[in-house]
Amino acid sequence: MYILRKQLIAHLDTVLNAKKIRDYCPNGLQVEGSEQVRSIITGVTASQALIDIAIERGADTILVHHGYFWEGEDERIVGIKKERLASLLRHDINLIAYHLPLDMHSVYGNNVQLADVLGLQIDGLLDESDPSVPGNIGRLPRAMTGGEFAEWIGEQLQREPLHIGEAGDTIETIGWCTGGAQGYLQKAIDAGVDAFLTGEINEPAVHLARETGTHFYSAGHHATERYGAKALGEYLADKYDIIVEFIDIDNPV
Ligand SMILES: [Zn+2]
Repeated sequence: MYILRKQLIAHLDTVLNAKKIRDYCPNGLQVEGSEQVRSIITGVTASQALIDIAIERGADTILVHHGYFWEGEDERIVGIKKERLASLLRHDINLIAYHLPLDMHSVYGNNVQLADVLGLQIDGLLDESDPSVPGNIGRLPRAMTGGEFAEWIGEQLQREPLHIGEAGDTIETIGWCTGGAQGYLQKAIDAGVDAFLTGEINEPAVHLARETGTHFYSAGHHATERYGAKALGEYLADKYDIIVEFIDIDNPV
């Protein structure tokens, strides 16, 4: 019927190895609410829209990938930060967030979950020399042209990717990292794969992709990170006798 918040956090911290992963936001409990957890809303980002739905549903806990308190942000409780925190505190809602631990987990992680959705076979880490870097390398479900793979991504994620590369080239191997990992393109090049997929893209990445002949797929930060929090929530619903609901709040980026 319920579990204690303390027990839930301790369990999640252990499952996700959260204490051992260095990150630029606090992982685990970010805002303290109800001591008993009966009903959890999971989502990608703890936006006001997600909080409003949690309030509507009478949930006591929100579990997300993108929480608050990022390194380097303005610490003051003003503007939308004040509104979000006030909503959580007024309704005694716990905010639990796992960032890198949820990107990297070998079962519930965004990268492994995305591979599952796209049918990618995992062969290793994106950066074998540094296991603190999230992301993987592997193979497409079958050899495809650059254009076919773009279509495939569009169908599986319900979002058309931006593809940099020749539509007629054949692709077999790929590196990927969910979210805003355009800075990791060089790691995929170093790994010698045909293509790199992430959520976002920037101007220099286009040139790097073109000049190295590496296909770049920018498939959406949100669209590539929809699966970790959802999978983790399903695991909790299975393990404990509590209500867990994933809410997808669309984001075109
Ligand atoms: Zn992200």
